[in-house]
Order: sequence, then C-alpha cells, then structure tokens
Amino acid sequence: MERKRVLVTGGAGFIGSHLCERLLAMGYDVIGMDNLFTGRKDNIRHLISNPYFEFIRKDVTEEIYVECDQIYNLACPASPIHYQYDPIKTGKTSIIGALHALGLAKRCNARILQASTSEVYGDPEVHPQPETYRGCVNPIGIRACYDEGKRMSETLFFDYYRQHGVDIKVARIFNTYGPRMNVNDGRVISNFIVQALRGEDITIYGDGKQTRSFCYVDDLVDGLIRLMNSRDGFTGPVNLGNPGEFTMLEVAECIIEMTKSKSHIIYCPLPEDDPTQRKPVIDLAEQELGWKPGVSLETGLEHTINYFKMCLKERREA
Ligand code: NAD
Ligand code: UDP
Repeated sequence: MERKRVLVTGGAGFIGSHLCERLLAMGYDVIGMDNLFTGRKDNIRHLISNPYFEFIRKDVTEEIYVECDQIYNLACPASPIHYQYDPIKTGKTSIIGALHALGLAKRCNARILQASTSEVYGDPEVHPQPETYRGCVNPIGIRACYDEGKRMSETLFFDYYRQHGVDIKVARIFNTYGPRMNVNDGRVISNFIVQALRGEDITIYGDGKQTRSFCYVDDLVDGLIRLMNSRDGFTGPVNLGNPGEFTMLEVAECIIEMTKSKSHIIYCPLPEDDPTQRKPVIDLAEQELGWKPGVSLETGLEHTINYFKMCLKERREA
C-alpha cells in the first residue's frame, strides 16, 4: 500500500511536532512546514533521520507548492504574548496562510483540517460551549488578531467547501498543554511549572477565579487524527478539549504541590479581554469520532513537569 503524504503546517511547533511524530509512527509520509517563529528545530530533531520525514522552513504567507493527500493547517502562534507580538503578521498567518493551504488542497484534491480554537467563542456568555454557540469576540481588542483571524479562517474553509467542494475538517481546540511547550511560551501551564521549578513567584493574572479546561497533547493529537479520517461529509466544526474545568488558582496550587515548590503566588493585572470561563461540550466529538480525552490533569502535569525539569537541567538551571 502506498504511504499517504501529509503536510503539517506549524510542524515544528508544540502540537505540530507531536502530530508529525504520531503520523510517522502510523506509517504516513510527513512534510513538516514551519517558519520557526515559535517552533523549534529541537522539537523535531528526533524525526530528522526518518526517511519519511521532511522539514521545510517556510512561511505560510507565501504560496505553498508541494504534492500531498492530507493537510493539517496548524501554522499560527498560539500563546497570547507571541500572537500579540506582531498582531498584523498573526492576522496574515491565519488568513493568507489558510488561503494558501486551501488553494493547495483544491489543486491536490487533498483533505484539509484547520486547527481552529475555542477563542472563536471569545469571552463566552454560554457555558459550557457547544459548537452551535456563535461566540462573543471583541473585534477591535488585543486578542482580535488571533480570535478574528481564526474566525475568518473558519469562514474561508466553509466557503472553499461550498464553492469548490474542498474536503474540509475544522477542529476547535481548547487549551492544550504538554512536553515541548517552550520554556518562554507564556501560556499558563508552562509559566506556572517553570516558575515553580525555579522557585520564582507564581504569576496569577487577575483574581485567579477565571477558568480553563486543559487537554493533554497526546489526547488532542488523537482527536485531530480521528477528525482527519472521519466519515466523508463530516466537516465539523468540532470541539476538541478536556471538559475538566479549573480555576487558575487551583492550577497554581496543584503545580506548587506537585513540584514541592517554595514559590509564592502573586497577583498581576488581568490582560485585556481575558475570557472568564471556558469549558467544551464534547458530545459531537464523542458521537462522530468516538473520541474523548483519557489523560487526567494530574497525570498530564506530571509528564509536563518532568519535561520542564529536563529542559532546565539542560540549561543548567536545575
Ligand atoms: P506553537 O506556537 O507551538 O505552534 C505554532 C507553529 O506555527 C510554530 O512552530 C510556529 O513557528 C509556526 N508558525 C507561526 N507562524 C507561521 C507562519 N507564518 N508560517 C509558518 N509557520 C508558522 O503553538 P501550538 O500550541 O502548537 O498551536 C498549534 C496550532 O493549534 C495553532 O494554529 C493554534 O492556534 C492551535 N491551537 C492551539 C491551542 C493550544 O492550547 N495549544 C488551542 C487552540 C488552538
Ligand atoms: N494566566 C495567568 N498567569 C500566567 C499566564 C496566564 O494567570 O502566568 C492566565 C491568563 O490570564 C488566562 C489563563 O491563565 O486567564 C489561561 O491563559 P493562557 O495564556 O494559557 O491561555 P488563553 O488565555 O489563551 O486561554
């Protein structure tokens, strides 16, 4: 049987590198494409010697010419500090990147999956969030480059589906964490673990009562692959996330306890438009994909803490 060739944009990033690794293990021929803005060669170092893996350093805002059967479109910085660093570029990556990936899918007759986000729900007034909820996004705020960029890419996916019959799948990914997040990623789980391991203050933004639902990366990758291979005509959007809901204060306390850290919690200003609550309804993923997450927050944190211990050791910080 011939190997299917799969393109993963954002393939050197946190989720992208796990996805490339899993696809290779499943027998696919994998092209990882990345401009290395937030991604790192270290994330894919162990894949480079595999003859079925190819890395292309490239920006998705430029046209993409490869031949492939499936495309996972993950290229886009996901951490607020990184996507707000150059918001115009974030918008271009989401929108122009989606246009190029969709154009490629159309030319190659490839199936294409978009890594959308729970951010399309903005600061939700409906809790928990089903896929039918249309969201509450501030279109002119500091998160809009990402939220509206992702909303527009969903629009483009559905327009290519209706206008050109492109075979699309849209995943709305909720907060995902795990090994290979960058030490300087800036998202809550990596920040708290690194701060705890260094004995630095744990920075809670706002009063810490805001909630998030955290999915371990292995579960998420499983969901993405199931969605890509789901029945013809099932487009989503489908929520992929772990419905366990925690306040940031609970997360901080749990990480302090698990790392046996002497760090203290400090309270910092809440960033503008920070959503107050978030929790996915995952009935659709369960019905259509037979998917639900299996890794508890505690187990996932254990793996992630061990990973960051190793990173800090390599940097001679521990
Ligand atoms: P990440 O920042 O580690 O990965 C994104 C990758 O895209 C990086 O390797 C980066 O270098 C690359 N990239 C950025 N701009 C690019 C461009 N213009 N051209 C080519 N490559 C580019 O983040 P992640 O957490 O792995 O997120 C992967 C995808 O999943 C993103 O699209 C993100 O929006 C989506 N997502 C992630 C989460 C999460 O919690 N991790 C939640 C919702 C959605
Ligand atoms: N957060 C925090 N301290 C940090 C980093 C983040 O309290 O050092 C909070 C942030 O304000 C938000 C939540 O943690 O309420 C999740 O933030 P993250 O950036 O991980 O993801 P997102 O806001 O995109 O869901």
